[in-house]
Amino acid sequence: MTAHPLVERLMTLLGPDHVLTDPGVMQGYTLDWTRRWSGVALAVVRPADTAQVAAVVLACSASGVPIVAQGGNTGLVGGSVPAVVPGAGGPPVILSTRRLTRLDPVDDVSGQVTVGAGVTLGDLHRYVAHQGWEYGVDLAARDSATIGGTVATNAGGIRVIAHGMTRSQVTGIEAVLPDGSVVEHLAGLAKDNTGYDLAGLLTGSEGTLGVITAVRLRLHRPHAPSSVALIGVDTWDDALHLLHAAVRHGVPLLAAEVTDETGMELAMRCASLPWPLETRHPLVLLLEIADGGEGGGFVPQVLDGRDVVVGLDAGERARLWAYRELQSEAFSSYATEVAGGAAHKLDVSVPLPKLAEAATVIRERMAGYPGVKAFGVFGHLGDGNIHVEIVGPAPDDEEVDRRVLEAVGAFGGSVSAEHGIGRAKVGALHLSRSLAEMSAMRAIKQALDPRGIMNPGVLLADRVAP
Ligand SMILES: Cc1cc2nc3c(=O)[nH]c(=O)nc-3n(C[C@H](O)[C@H](O)[C@H](O)COP(=O)(O)OP(=O)(O)OC[C@H]3O[C@@H](n4cnc5c(N)ncnc54)[C@H](O)[C@@H]3O)c2cc1C
Repeated sequence: MTAHPLVERLMTLLGPDHVLTDPGVMQGYTLDWTRRWSGVALAVVRPADTAQVAAVVLACSASGVPIVAQGGNTGLVGGSVPAVVPGAGGPPVILSTRRLTRLDPVDDVSGQVTVGAGVTLGDLHRYVAHQGWEYGVDLAARDSATIGGTVATNAGGIRVIAHGMTRSQVTGIEAVLPDGSVVEHLAGLAKDNTGYDLAGLLTGSEGTLGVITAVRLRLHRPHAPSSVALIGVDTWDDALHLLHAAVRHGVPLLAAEVTDETGMELAMRCASLPWPLETRHPLVLLLEIADGGEGGGFVPQVLDGRDVVVGLDAGERARLWAYRELQSEAFSSYATEVAGGAAHKLDVSVPLPKLAEAATVIRERMAGYPGVKAFGVFGHLGDGNIHVEIVGPAPDDEEVDRRVLEAVGAFGGSVSAEHGIGRAKVGALHLSRSLAEMSAMRAIKQALDPRGIMNPGVLLADRVAP
């Protein structure tokens, strides 16, 4: 059978080993982590460097074939796999960045490093740790999620309370734009007011404006050894009260996470873990503090009279973190087990003073929704960011998502705190962004990608087929 002319061209550019067309082999790239989103690709290409990425983009652009940039494929909103968009130029080429693994020497004076988009978060952590540095973004998918993917989604994670989101770490970027041009601004200057901030624009752009090939990142000196406490709490207000007490008393917080009882039970079931506290509680708060690892940083106002367990060494800390880190996986495996499908995963944020009320309203909206077999909430309490997991409704049931997202919009929250809009929330963007903002975003997209070849159906699409 004759190959598609673009596929032949891509094979010439990259060599046949790095252009995949076998549907079985491509499945790991066309089905997303949640198993809720999938798509059809013309081919998967694996360029080795920026020049090859530019060549692929030019070839696709010349053929009018769309491109989906993909890193670790751990995104949770369907943005990393092809969407079906009528009139968008046929099945896209998936451009895997996993071979872009450049790791430059750490600049000890500025505390920065330049890395390829395909380096995983875990590999970056290990690389800089050997040289006495730490990278400020961390999340449970660290061993698969790539730097390019975390920048493209402006990932949050478990250290936002200490270091901010990914955008705060990015000091420079290299990317291939839809016309094949390479923008490279990697000096990482502390002061640089020379016009539009392309690094800031591409951060959080979800593959819709170009392919990020390398990033310059800010590093931190490692924090003091830490202590972790799991604390049983009965209400969201009580959890927030404890968090405020910790902040008020100057506790050096590294993380403040919360998991509800359903999530705790599913994590226990998923990894055969025991309940970690004396008694059951509706919520379990995890606080990690940089106190030298002696637990002495937990002031009495936070722990006294509480059902609590504290971990001081690396093994204990990991044991206590496991309940929280297993959440997404635990809901997904329960969904496969009882519903034969995928869990609905909604990542939202609301202003902290409204968090307790919002959590109650969302729970009420889910109560009695047809087919819900499990419902749970966990997340980054310190950031007002909760992840809502719903097991039971069919993967294409958008009404259940809408009920949650509309409640969030009514509380002045964000329909996407850290995972992005992807395909999953295209129809909900207006709940968090004004018409004027959306029209400014469309103008940027139109200017950089007039033919709409970069990740069609994601973020700004007017219409996406399921
Ligand atoms: C268990 C688990 C826990 C998670 N925890 C968190 C969390 O705490 N916080 C959080 O924010 N996220 C979390 N995530 C979501 C996910 O890990 C992040 O969104 C991550 O940033 C995605 O990285 P990736 O390399 O897998 O990107 P992919 O999934 O491959 O892609 C994600 C998006 O980025 C685009 N993209 C990828 N690479 C590039 C590139 N080089 N150039 C341009 N666009 C690109 C894709 O087109 C897509 O739109 C979690 C996921 C899992 C599975």
